[in-house]
Order: sequence, then structure tokens, then C-alpha cells
Amino acid sequence: MKNNNKPKHFIVFKIVGFIGIIISIVGFILVSFADFKFNNIMIGTLMGTFGSAIGISCLFIGFRPEITKLATQSSKNIQQENKEDLKGIATNTADIVSDAITKTTTAIKKGLDDKIFCKHCGEKIDSDSKFCNKCGKMQ
Ligand SMILES: [Zn+2]
Repeated sequence: MKNNNKPKHFIVFKIVGFIGIIISIVGFILVSFADFKFNNIMIGTLMGTFGSAIGISCLFIGFRPEITKLATQSSKNIQQENKEDLKGIATNTADIVSDAITKTTTAIKKGLDDKIFCKHCGEKIDSDSKFCNKCGKMQ
């Protein structure tokens, strides 16, 4: 008895949800084809907004058993099937990230170390540059 009542109530939500989606589609079509008359745009926008709001929420409620089932199942499957993979991915990611950080900090340090000041105008330039970027004079 407990299980027999539930599906009916969800079926109503499903039907309302589909109607809502149809209303929203009609609303958006009305907006698209509206002759930029104020009334057409108003009706279309209202229908589209209310329709999609009602439609999406009703669809979500209507399909809640399926969504819950799917979500639970897929998360369980992901956890079971990919436990080792995830561990591997996490380790690899950590390695890549730490490597990238080390390389970046090294590059920044090197970049900072390789800077000198122009003899003529005092602009910060690369140590191996022959001419100043600012004043153009030879180093
Ligand atoms: Zn200079």
C-alpha cells in the first residue's frame, strides 16, 4: 500500500513538468518570433519564465525517485570502480602540481636574478640584453 500511492503522485508531477516544459518552449518561441511588440514580448517572457520554473521544478520532483536512484547508484559505482584510479590520479596530480610549482618558482627566481639595471636610465632589463628596452642605449 505504501509503495502503491507514491508513483501516482510522482506521475502527476511528471505530467505537470512536461506541460511546464512545453509552456516554456512555447514562451521562448513567442519571444523569438515576437514582432518586438511590447505585449508579445511580455506574454512570451512571462510564459517562458513561469513555464520553465514550474516545469523544471515539477520535473525534478516527478523524477526524484529516478534521480535519487541514479545519483546513489552512480556515486556508489564511481566509488567502487574508481577507488584505485582516483588514488592514482590524486597522487599523479599532486606530483604534477608540486613539480609545476617548483618549476614556476625556480623560473621566477631565475627571472628576478637575471635582471639588471640600465646604466643610463636605470630601467630594469634582462642581464643578457645588449640594449635597454626603455632608452635604447647599449649596455
Ligand atoms: Zn636605459
